[in-house]
Amino acid sequence: MDYQYVVVGCGFAGATAARILAEQGNHNILMIDKRSHLGGNSFDRINQHGIAIHQYGPHIFHTDNEEVYAFLSRFTKLNGYIHSVEAKCHDVLLPVPFNLVSIQRAFGPEKARILEEKLLQTYGENTKVSIFELMNCEDPLLKELGQFIYENIYYYYTAKQWGNPPDAVSPKVLQRVPVQVSRYSQYFSAKYQGLPEKGYTDVFEKLVHHPKINCALNTPFDKLFSLKDGKIYFRNKMFEGTILYTGSLDELFHYQFGVLPYRSMRFCFETYERPWYQEKGVINYTTSEKFTRITEFKHMTGQDNPYATTILKEYPTNFNLSSDLVPCYPIASPASQSLYEKYKDLLADYPQIHLAGRLAEYQYYDMDMVIYRAMQLAKSLL
Ligand code: FAD
Ligand code: UDP
Repeated sequence: MDYQYVVVGCGFAGATAARILAEQGNHNILMIDKRSHLGGNSFDRINQHGIAIHQYGPHIFHTDNEEVYAFLSRFTKLNGYIHSVEAKCHDVLLPVPFNLVSIQRAFGPEKARILEEKLLQTYGENTKVSIFELMNCEDPLLKELGQFIYENIYYYYTAKQWGNPPDAVSPKVLQRVPVQVSRYSQYFSAKYQGLPEKGYTDVFEKLVHHPKINCALNTPFDKLFSLKDGKIYFRNKMFEGTILYTGSLDELFHYQFGVLPYRSMRFCFETYERPWYQEKGVINYTTSEKFTRITEFKHMTGQDNPYATTILKEYPTNFNLSSDLVPCYPIASPASQSLYEKYKDLLADYPQIHLAGRLAEYQYYDMDMVIYRAMQLAKSLL
């Protein structure tokens, strides 16, 4: 078969772009993925105990983007799960993002009342304040509150997650989880949130189920393609079509300038023969343990199974090529960005290759953003 488009990677970036190109461009598309399954890091499955799990960590869809939501809604409904998280902070459970309820639990009613009044006066009700803003606040009591939250919620968790304390991590990372001047204990404030009713893998099967899309798993790019002197070869014949690449850019160019740094994760699943393990879908461990968080999937999926429950502990570690780790989080720094740009410059010789997604763009994108970027790219190619 003659393919006009090749999409490398069957995660949200690849599957979204492929679907749009197939429907609107009426082109033959080959999708490949080196993994044995669809879905990239959003892949989920039923484990040997009959429990639905997310193989690469808990994935909660959330978006305010109407276009993205409308696209996803063609393939699934969301199950209505509203994500809320608590932090195990010493021996107390505190809602995260840190909010007025967390203040009550951490400080007791008297001090909480004073802090609450000050927060409401300074920032107003239902506002979000970054931890940095709070720590730099002029009011000494609020500044002290900021310091408390920094030390008890952000410091150790960030050090585990990134292998570095917060001051060595891009401020944007901590700004993803601002302090909330409200009593709403929701992790995300997006208009649409939840998990796909029948899971993510079901969505991916539907996305790629199209007469114009052929999907080959267990197929790394290098198995079929090679790049030489500005030309692309597909099974040793020159390829004139377009490639949408959603993998890591250093891999495409055989790591010739070195390996792009990523934070990775060891995912350790445990199953217990009892209905529940913990009160919430996710508990963050912000002052103890080597893992960052424990996820109990049944809270999120809504699966009804009184006999067993599966949990996941996430142990962060640096990504390297010599293990079975997958790249999870791009590490934002001037050095990593300039290495990425060096690889990107090589693409000037290959205008047929386009990039989309968390790995290919080397950006800390959530799923909705990845879908959006892929939609934009596919439309621009049409
Ligand atoms: P990926 O899902 O990584 O897919 C890329 C695919 O390309 C992979 O399947 C890979 O095997 C394949 N590939 C790469 N290189 C090659 C090659 N050379 N040849 C062939 N195939 C190749 N987002 C949210 O919105 N909500 C969440 O709650 C959330 N939780 C997360 C939790 C964790 C632990 C992690 C790591 C991420 C989380 N995310 C979450 C982010 C989400 O996983 C990503 O936004 C999304 O998966 C990115 O999709 P993608 O298609 O860009 O990349
Ligand atoms: N974070 C933290 N303590 C928490 C939750 C988050 O320090 O209890 C910091 C940490 O640096 C983390 C970042 O905020 O990497 C972003 O958190 P988010 O929940 O968005 O991370 P993800 O779900 O993408 O791993």
